[in-house]
Amino acid sequence: LQQTEKLSLEEMDRQYVWHHISPYREEGATMIVEKGEGSWITDQNGNRYLDGMSGLWCVNVGYGREELAEAAAEQIKKIAYTPMTNSHEPAIELAAKVNSMLNDDYVMFYSNSGSDANEVAFKIARQYHQQNGDPNRYKVISRYRAYHGSSMGALSATGQALRKYKYEPLSSGFLHVSPPDNYRKPDNVTVEEYNLQKAREIEETINYEQKESIAAVIMEPLITGGGVIMPHEVYAQEVERICERHGVLLIIDEVICGFGRTGKAFGHQQFNIKPDIITMAKGLTSAYLPLSITAVRKDIYEAFKGTEDNQHFRHVNTFGGNPAACAVALKNIEIMERESLFERSEQLGAKLLQGLKELENHPNVGNVRGLGLLAGIEIVEDKETKEPAPNDRVAKLIASCKAKGLIIGRNGDTVAGQNNILTLSPPLSSTDEDIDFILQVLNEVFAENK
Ligand code: PMP
Repeated sequence: LQQTEKLSLEEMDRQYVWHHISPYREEGATMIVEKGEGSWITDQNGNRYLDGMSGLWCVNVGYGREELAEAAAEQIKKIAYTPMTNSHEPAIELAAKVNSMLNDDYVMFYSNSGSDANEVAFKIARQYHQQNGDPNRYKVISRYRAYHGSSMGALSATGQALRKYKYEPLSSGFLHVSPPDNYRKPDNVTVEEYNLQKAREIEETINYEQKESIAAVIMEPLITGGGVIMPHEVYAQEVERICERHGVLLIIDEVICGFGRTGKAFGHQQFNIKPDIITMAKGLTSAYLPLSITAVRKDIYEAFKGTEDNQHFRHVNTFGGNPAACAVALKNIEIMERESLFERSEQLGAKLLQGLKELENHPNVGNVRGLGLLAGIEIVEDKETKEPAPNDRVAKLIASCKAKGLIIGRNGDTVAGQNNILTLSPPLSSTDEDIDFILQVLNEVFAENK
């Protein structure tokens, strides 16, 4: 590189780094993050921010955990890599540990990301049905507004037009139904009845699409990235019954909800269901290293146990299950258990939600909802019509929070005309003072933006 003068970090960033989502930004718009401690991150200019999103909903144990750095370093010194055609102690121990946290017996397939884990789930579902003598089942039903990943299959399952429309055609065989959105339900039905109706939309789709062609339903316990859209508990249970009735596998995407985000080890445990396949990533390592798991229930796995070539699951992922990431995941879960972070998520989450509920007095706050340390604030133009607030209003709230040292998220789908939900997902290790700070900043920001 020919450089006559030394470029600043920011200049180099603008020159060489293609950022996710928005590649070109105005000067000064990109935060160059230098370090983190607990729930707080510090940028290169020494400004501190409370990370109310735990990065991308993932740093569950908070930043700066030396134990996790040591777990990774020790493992790399011992054996840095072996492919998962072999095995190694951290992968074995982690698989047993994760199994002990689930409600049934599962076998763990390792990859690197949430998208990977969902791709594996779709491939296993399709092959499982073939192995069971049911080769025509290939379609996957998911929900509008949900996000399941960025790779072609996971993007096909995603129900947000904004993320998809430039990359079509995507994989075939992916169908969508609308999720229950209790805030916008019709007035003349109860929440339970409305949720049952929404679940039955899945059964209708199964019937109209020719029953024997459906391989799986994929859903999150609650839609996180699409705007914290929470079902009533009857919904998941009804979907489980429908899947059972039609021989369709139920895949639960726990990429965000898993590892304590909702106040239980896994989000689906809120609803007492037993998924056939469970995908997990983010909180598994608190994002200290990349790792994901596709947990497959033992009886589904049995169909792949034959020794014939055509019975093998033909899927290899070079870095999946790498020893350092598995060692970090084990230590991460140990920390969560030692510090009772799932219970903490439940308790602090209740405190956060109670405080946020007071914002519902504001003329633009249509609805506040949440579970554990996961919350959504739906911003509307008009509380009667529930018309979603336009981009500027929502963007201004986020910028005002940032100016006061609080990072919050935003979700929705601009193509669908609904990108109006502020989101919060702070580390499970947050202190009471951290939660007070979040509430104080939000109160100030909403008071200043009436
Ligand atoms: N599923 C859900 C529910 C997610 O939120 C995400 C990521 N935000 C993914 C899958 C994809 O995960 P990754 O970015 O690790 O591929």
